[in-house]
Parts: sequence; structure tokens; C-alpha cells
Amino acid sequence: MSASAPANPKVGFVSLGCPKALVDSERILTQLRVEGYDIVQSYDDADVVVVNTCGFIDSAVTESLDAIGEAIAENGKVIVTGCLGKRSELIREAHPDVLSISGPQDYGSVMSAVHSALPPRHDPFLDLVPRRDDGIGVKLTPKHYAYLKISEGCNHRCSFCIIPSMRGDLVSRPVDDVLREAEKLAMGGVKELLVISQDTSAYGVDVKYAERQWRGKSYQTRMKALCEGLSELGIWTRLHYVYPYPHVDDIIALMAENGANGMPKLLPYLDIPFQHASPRVLKLMKRPGAVDKTLERIQRWRSIAPDIAIRSTFIVGFPGETDAEFEELLDFLDEAQLDRVGAFAYSPVDGAKANDLPDPVPEELKQERLARFMERQAEISAAKLEAKVGSRQRCLVDAIDGELAIARSMADAPEIDGLVQIQNGESAGLRVGQFVDVEIMGSDEHDLFGEAVEND
Ligand code: SF4
Repeated sequence: MSASAPANPKVGFVSLGCPKALVDSERILTQLRVEGYDIVQSYDDADVVVVNTCGFIDSAVTESLDAIGEAIAENGKVIVTGCLGKRSELIREAHPDVLSISGPQDYGSVMSAVHSALPPRHDPFLDLVPRRDDGIGVKLTPKHYAYLKISEGCNHRCSFCIIPSMRGDLVSRPVDDVLREAEKLAMGGVKELLVISQDTSAYGVDVKYAERQWRGKSYQTRMKALCEGLSELGIWTRLHYVYPYPHVDDIIALMAENGANGMPKLLPYLDIPFQHASPRVLKLMKRPGAVDKTLERIQRWRSIAPDIAIRSTFIVGFPGETDAEFEELLDFLDEAQLDRVGAFAYSPVDGAKANDLPDPVPEELKQERLARFMERQAEISAAKLEAKVGSRQRCLVDAIDGELAIARSMADAPEIDGLVQIQNGESAGLRVGQFVDVEIMGSDEHDLFGEAVEND
């Protein structure tokens, strides 16, 4: 008769918020697995539940508080972490029974709260070994792409944003540390790295661009050197949250160059939030306001890397925004011809300086402006996609759905941009995580449609 092994303690996990919070969740889940906890999918099966919250805008606060409430009602033992953890009084007021509250990246506090609620089962062999075969930890994203967090915090003080007060000033990870993590991910089968931070272009400023060694070569802790290092891995690298500093211009040439295996050294893709186009509104936002220069720079980028896809975000109805300033924003859209655009109607965030500005825009007018803005951009995006019909695009397959393969081109970041539907995906024998060349045959407002012409 063989004795059955005692069951592992079980943790439920709810992950809310942005890609940065997702990276935190991955770290906590990895540590839990390393210590022998099982991660379970239902409240009933869990001995304790961790909720990783978001606190960026009011709707995220409500969503986070609701998620905590649901976990308490369904399970009862709840540990809260993440951005909203910085506002513990708010959480305690709504949910006095939570076991513990900690802020973002406070992995130590989350783990000690888990230990006291649910001591780990000691297994000297298993406890030291992560469960995944590839040894790169628990990833919440599919196996073929991964977020790579390069820094925390932000040195800017945009008046609508409370991230610096929640996450503090910029703290960059040493470049060799980031490159080693990227290398492990690539060895584990990742084909696309999504570089994230609060402010990717400020990378290294806090450590005075310290030089470190990786693969016997010296690299500065700086955005351009990081991109050069990542290009050695021969996979896609996509940059997110690039603040429009002048030195962004320095990396555009890498987007036009191919590495040894024919991959672009850096994907010709720039996620660069401009937020507005009126110099006065940008000043109120405490953002760089030289709009003519921005348009010139966009043109220059396109002359160096003609395929560059530019994604940006904007806020409409910022306090004090006049009709004329809103029209300036629409004119900017016409001139800039951005590929992908996200927009929000301004909504006050608790604790943000912009709340004190005079002349708030009435809600109805904000919504009307947002609708006009989106309509204008939708035409631009649709025309830009239509211009790709007849071209051949290198794509990465995300999923197989019947006969279709669902993929993304270099111009499409996962979850926020469009897709490429490959009509003959199954018959072409495509697999998830594979690069494929696609002949583009049609388009709509968001997506492209085509057929696979060549496999890797
Ligand atoms: S750069 Fe981004 S994170 Fe930093 S203060 Fe501005 S909006 Fe917030």
C-alpha cells in the first residue's frame, strides 16, 4: 500500500490591470509555484485568494474593489496587492476583512501574507524547483510572447497622472539583468518581447546609464543599447510607453536594419503617447509641447523606417480645452496620419493635480469630442490598413481557429492593436508561435485578411 502525498496548499489568483501589473502577477505566481503552492482556477478550490489590483483610473478602482468583494464573498481569505494597495484606507473601508494589503512590486509582503495564511508544505526537493520545464517561471501570456519590464516608476509629473505617487521615481533594472531575462525567454520559445515600463525612453537615467557586460560585450543601461542587445536574440522586440524625448530619434535606424537571421533589429513600431496637440493643453498636462517638431519628427522617422507603425494615446476634454484647441488636435491627427490611436475622455483621478485646473469640460461635450475624435481617426486607420492590401506582411501566429490562423503583423501589438486573419491557416499547416509571410487580400477598420504564402 502506498501512502498518497499530502495535497499542496492551493492559491487562487485574480490579476487585474495593465501589462505592468501582469508582470508583477507572473513574478508572484512563479514564487508561489517555487514554494510548492498549487494555483487553482476557482474560489471553491482555493485555500486563500490573492487579488492583484489596479488603481489608475476611477473605473479600475471600482473594478478592483468589486473583485476583492467577490473574492471575500466566495472564499473569505483574501490578500490584496498592486497599485490600489497604495490606498489601503479605501480598501479597508470597503472590505475590512482582507488579510493583508501591499502595493505594487511588493512581492515580499505578498509572500509573507500567503505564508501566514497558508504555510507552505515543506518539500526539500520540490520546493526549490519551479514547475515549468523551461525554468523561466509562470507566464500569463501565451508561450510565444512575453512582457519584459525594464524599470519601475517615473520621473515625470504629468498633471493627470498619479502613477509617480503610487510607484515612485524611476528605478531602472541593470541592462545585463534585463538582457539575461530576455535571453532565457528566447531560449524558452518566446518569439516576441514586449518592452514595458512607465517611461521606456528614460531607461537608465537614474543609474547614469551604467555600463554592464553581457555575452562578453559592454552595454550601457540605456534604451538604444538595450535594443541593440535584444536584437542579438533574433526575435521580435516591440517598444511600449516611449515618452517623446528627442533621443527616441536615435533608435529609428535600428527599425530599418535587419539582424543576422533577417529579422528587423527592432520592430518598426513605436507606442508613443502624445496625449494632445495643443501647446497650451500640453503645458497644462506638463508634457512636451513642441507640436511642429513632433510632426517633423514623425516625417523624419518615416523617411528612415518607411514601414514604421506609430501608436499613440490622447486625452480629450482635458480641463480648459477650448473648441479651437480640440480642432487643433483633429488637425494634428490629419497631418500625423498615425496608424493606431487610443483615446480617453478626461476623467478626474483621485489625487491628480489636473483636478484643480479651472474650466472643466462638461461631460456631454467631452463625449461628443471623443466621438468626433474616434470617427476621424477611424477613417485614417482604415485607409492605412487598406493601403496594405496587395502587400506581403511577415506575421506571428497567435492562435488556430478552425481553418483560420489568427496572427499579428509587425504593426500589431497583442491585445491593443489589430489582427491578421489567415484564411488558409490550417491547410498551410501553421502552428501557434510560428512566423509566416502573408499576402494581404483585404482589410477593414481594424484587421487585415490574407493567405499564407511561405512558412518558416
Ligand atoms: S510619463 Fe506616464 S507614468 Fe509618468 S507621470 Fe506622465 S503619464 Fe504618468
